[in-house]
Amino acid sequence: MPPKKLAAGNWKMNGLKADLAEVAALAEAHATTACEILICPPATLLAPMAATVGSAPILLGGQNCHAAESGAHTGDISAAMLKDAGAGYVILGHSERRADHGETDAEVRIKTGAAWTAGLTAIVCIGETLSQREAGETLDIVGGQLDGSLPDGSTAENMVVAYEPVWAIGTGKVPTTVQIAEVHDFLRAQLVSRFGDAANGIRLLYGGSVKPSNAAEIFAVSNVDGALVGGASLKAADFGGIIDALAAA
Ligand code: PEP
Repeated sequence: MPPKKLAAGNWKMNGLKADLAEVAALAEAHATTACEILICPPATLLAPMAATVGSAPILLGGQNCHAAESGAHTGDISAAMLKDAGAGYVILGHSERRADHGETDAEVRIKTGAAWTAGLTAIVCIGETLSQREAGETLDIVGGQLDGSLPDGSTAENMVVAYEPVWAIGTGKVPTTVQIAEVHDFLRAQLVSRFGDAANGIRLLYGGSVKPSNAAEIFAVSNVDGALVGGASLKAADFGGIIDALAAA
């Protein structure tokens, strides 16, 4: 059976212990759900969030990991540490990390291998900038990122891909459903061509200014298996609306 659709929240560098109340509210409102729910908080909140979630069906993830298992890497965090703190997933290659820390496709690929070794599912992010879209390069860019960032051996169980146009992240701008379908259909074909029919089960998330008000329309697009949500994942009411739209899709 293919994995369930996935509503993933990326809290970025937001969240203190007081914000666990939002997760408690989300857990109470979603004791059962037709889709998977994932929150990727700052690493400091992973363990307390795991305690807050309790037996509710809310999965947890990290936002980055180092390629090494351990060692002299001050300020970094390993995949095994994320797992130990309660994570089952890790976001890798988010455009903010590619921009702020110069992460390359090759580094994302190596980190993905480290995540797998620790037993984490990777959510690898790809997406074009506005100037790349305007130059008509979108499919070339995302195709190259997909090829370079995913290791051999990617499966529906160990890999999720998030298509996040850089110009749509945190801007309130969203591609048209035709534009989203074009990219997702292209990515699906490339995944199947490289990994075989089983890659039909690799979840393809859309990310970039998803809100309760536009979620249903986005989830109706072909080959959209869920969303990676930034700002709207911070409040239970907003993220809950997106989860409900995905569960109904
Ligand atoms: C993100 O950062 O992954 C994201 C999609 O952000 P937002 O939903 O705020 O655009």
